[in-house]
Amino acid sequence: MARAVIAIHGGAGAISRAAMSADKEQHYRQELAAIVAAGQQILAAGGSALDAVTEAVRRLEECPLFNAGKGAVFTHQGTHELDACIMDGRTLDIGAVAGVSHIRNPVLAARKVLEASPHVLLIGAGAEAFAAAQGLEPVAADFFSTPERYAQLQRALHSEALLLDHDGAAQTAGDPLDPDRKFGTVGAVALDSHGNLAAATSTGGMTNKQVGRVGDSPLAGAGCYASNDTVAVSCTGTGEVFIRTQAAYDVAAQMAYAGRSLQQATASVIHDKVQELEGSGGLIAVDAQGNVALPFNSEGMYRGFAWVDGNIEVAIYRDS
Ligand code: ASP
Repeated sequence: MARAVIAIHGGAGAISRAAMSADKEQHYRQELAAIVAAGQQILAAGGSALDAVTEAVRRLEECPLFNAGKGAVFTHQGTHELDACIMDGRTLDIGAVAGVSHIRNPVLAARKVLEASPHVLLIGAGAEAFAAAQGLEPVAADFFSTPERYAQLQRALHSEALLLDHDGAAQTAGDPLDPDRKFGTVGAVALDSHGNLAAATSTGGMTNKQVGRVGDSPLAGAGCYASNDTVAVSCTGTGEVFIRTQAAYDVAAQMAYAGRSLQQATASVIHDKVQELEGSGGLIAVDAQGNVALPFNSEGMYRGFAWVDGNIEVAIYRDS
């Protein structure tokens, strides 16, 4: 029997230690630990990796601390466009949605695409109509808005730099990672006791992005990938670079074709390939043997993991 394990992330980015209170950090750690525990329980009860990652990402979407679902970032035009993907490593089935503004939990819509549609990726109004027909809760476009994200957009609009990488560290809302230089995508990867792998990724994208822009998160192979033969991967960071490097699939390819270990393949993708194209971010990955890797080249990444019979580990910074 495989040693089941779940890992999650709540995005990578720059640290603003000045803005971090012990309470705030504790809050993040508690939320991460509770979500890992929920996934761990599903796996301990013999549940599937697919169910564990779906539930973990749904909970991350519901938590406004993270840029997915409630608390998603704003586009340049002050709207929200959400993306999500889920992949079943057992069958290579994929479900994804992109550019949706009225689906409360994009990961649940992605799961419905996986289960109930002949397609793998639905966008915009078509995706929303499909989700509604599948019984998912529609929400008003401003459901996702929070004052913190709106302030973040205003700072981005007034800065020289286009997306997240601009000066604004001093104006954080007590977020341990500088919210203006944080990629708050969420994701989960898991191996279940039956030896099946699954991955899911969900995001509001990047603050100040152009309307219609789609990042790596809903694209299998870029921001999300799972195959029982090798690995399950969920990414966070500069979406354009993760697409150009086919980051998630490249981890699997290096393991399959070059015989690399999980640690070697994930380090190569994040520290060599993504870095060479000036991409910032990280990924979480579990392999078919239940090994875990959580590399990032940014200053921090919200992350946590637990084997089914082990302690829950959570961390934010490089040195934690
Ligand atoms: N990768 C996401 C995107 O480009 C952003 C993130 O990771 O927060 O849409």
